[in-house]
Amino acid sequence: MTIGWCFDNTYHKLSKIFKEDIKPIPVKKPQLVLINKKLALDLDLNFSNHDDKTLSELFSGNSLPEGSDCLAQAYAGHQFGHFTMLGDGRAVLIGEHISKDNERYDIQFKGSGKTAFSRNGDGRAALGPMLREYIISEAMNSLKIPTTRSLAVVKTGEEVIRENSLSGAILTRVASSHIRVGTFQYVAARQKIDELEIFLDYVINRHFPNIKNSQNKALDILNIVLEKQIDLVVNWMRVGFIHGVMNTDNMSIASETIDYGPCAFMNVYDPKTVFSSIDQMGRYAYCNQPIITKWNLSRFAECLIPLIDKDQEKAIQLATKIINSFEKKYEEKWLNMMRDKLGLFGVDDKDKFLILDLLTWMHQKKVDYTNTFCHLMNEKIQEDKKYEDKDFQNWKKRWNERLKTNNNTPEKYIKLMKTVNPLVIPRNHKVEEALKEAGKDNFKPLTRLIEILEKPYDQQKDIFDYQIPSPLDEKYQTFCGT
Ligand code: AMP
Ligand code: MG
Repeated sequence: MTIGWCFDNTYHKLSKIFKEDIKPIPVKKPQLVLINKKLALDLDLNFSNHDDKTLSELFSGNSLPEGSDCLAQAYAGHQFGHFTMLGDGRAVLIGEHISKDNERYDIQFKGSGKTAFSRNGDGRAALGPMLREYIISEAMNSLKIPTTRSLAVVKTGEEVIRENSLSGAILTRVASSHIRVGTFQYVAARQKIDELEIFLDYVINRHFPNIKNSQNKALDILNIVLEKQIDLVVNWMRVGFIHGVMNTDNMSIASETIDYGPCAFMNVYDPKTVFSSIDQMGRYAYCNQPIITKWNLSRFAECLIPLIDKDQEKAIQLATKIINSFEKKYEEKWLNMMRDKLGLFGVDDKDKFLILDLLTWMHQKKVDYTNTFCHLMNEKIQEDKKYEDKDFQNWKKRWNERLKTNNNTPEKYIKLMKTVNPLVIPRNHKVEEALKEAGKDNFKPLTRLIEILEKPYDQQKDIFDYQIPSPLDEKYQTFCGT
């Protein structure tokens, strides 16, 4: 039986300015480490009749599937505010797979060797960071947050040199596309309006076909991406996810969470939380994520200006109006998300104060963000005396008063809360422990962690240990690189 690949490679048909046609560089001794059978099912792929050796050859790029057309995508991006030409320096897109329900998925190998965009890099990736991306991207998907997915990880049998010598690995990443704000920036920087037009049409055909015939496609795409990015960042704020490196090249036009480098989850509520070792100024801190989303969208808008209107002044005016709608839309969506977290139906003028007072209390008393909502849902978590605090009890009285409005009942509000408040998130110490053991060829903690994180909204056996806040946080550091 065949695996079921069904490639239709539209990016490959774009002109050569958008990419380099290049295959993965073969690796010495590929060895399959993880394979995502549930995702395979969603993609209508079937690996069950293929042994590990065949799958290792496949997911290392040593043996390419029929119908693939490999390429590295060109893109640019603002990294920590500075514009740079980038591109897939260590990844190749092997093609676009079409599932039976006609969904299109980019299949990309990350860590697959040097390309024209590698600059000084080796084109490779280390095992730890690829497993980390697998764990967290799959956890995000289970948390019902749009994200790129992880289909497989193979060890390459080669060493990669970072600070130490590490095991090399390749991650198979699946995305609705890998087109980024930075891809538009790359095309726009070439200052050829026909190229920009072709690219905009390509993206609209692929992601937003409903605006194909609209009067002003450039303005419409800006509006749509703005809405979708707000939804995405509100979701991040909901679960305490900190992306860590929100450069414009790491912002997907399809608004999926992409590029799991230094990301991590907040434990104790502190809006200024930053984990990334290189983010010394806190540019990408938890509380700055919406601000940076708007900043990145402004860069996207700049790319579109020549296509919005021939009159530049007018184009800028039109785009600015959309960009300036960000705050109001964000606030509304954020408030509604927080209302859901607290089980509140309808709208009360005082909701914002109720929400902010709870957050302030968590911050001041150094209380865990995720577990506080578990406590409010009467879920058994680690005994925490912090909830006996008088200020918290007073806050709870106000919350209980508010809950009584809008025909609310405990059944109704708990049901709502359970859909948005996870019982488990990837706790930093648990992720580190799983990676450390995997480095010693013990994959048990890793597979157990992945299994627990598959059902974050459900009570599960032995979940308790995974709910304990990370004791590492104050000094926990994550790294780009990789
Ligand atoms: P990232 O930090 O993963 O978003 O990557 C930023 C840019 O650096 C992208 O253009 C990557 O392709 C490139 N890059 C990261 N690591 C490597 C590497 N080991 N070799 C070559 N290019 C890399
Ligand atoms: Mg990136």
